[in-house]
Amino acid sequence: MRFNVSQMLKESIGSTRSYEVDDDLSLEDEAPASHIIGKVKLLRTDQGIWLTAELESTIVCSCSRCLSEFEQLIHMSIDDEYLPTVDVASGAKLNYTNEDGNFLIDQGHVIDMAEAVRQYFTLNLPMKPVCSENCEGMCLTCGVNLNEASCACDKMRGDARWDALLELVSTNDNDD
Ligand SMILES: [Zn+2]
Ligand SMILES: [Zn+2]
Repeated sequence: MRFNVSQMLKESIGSTRSYEVDDDLSLEDEAPASHIIGKVKLLRTDQGIWLTAELESTIVCSCSRCLSEFEQLIHMSIDDEYLPTVDVASGAKLNYTNEDGNFLIDQGHVIDMAEAVRQYFTLNLPMKPVCSENCEGMCLTCGVNLNEASCACDKMRGDARWDALLELVSTNDNDD
């Protein structure tokens, strides 16, 4: 996910490049590499290069209802400007820094997208992943996965006293 933009930086504002991404990248600290696919578009701006990308990757999540592991598709829409650190024509150092939240083009005129992909990936992780909208979750009493089996605790659901308690449990569930 590295793009050499030295040629583009010499071109006029508005010139573009398109790339296909099909690459492996570790998206979290010490995580194994994830496969990332998608499209990247570069646009020459007055200051640098505007990068837009539509990327997808799949990670293994643990379902927040039933705790089983499943593959979750993560979509990332990247939209950021990359600013040069060296003037491509003169070789002079430029004063852009990443303190304003910009990304930088390195001294070899290369855009390395990896850091942006990691940031957008983290932003797009589901807070409460569910293996399916219809996931039955697990029994709060005995811990059985209700997608795979039913349990004896089910009988208690018919009891009005349990209904009130279960309501309380599900209300608390929504609070966090
Ligand atoms: Zn589930
Ligand atoms: Zn049960």
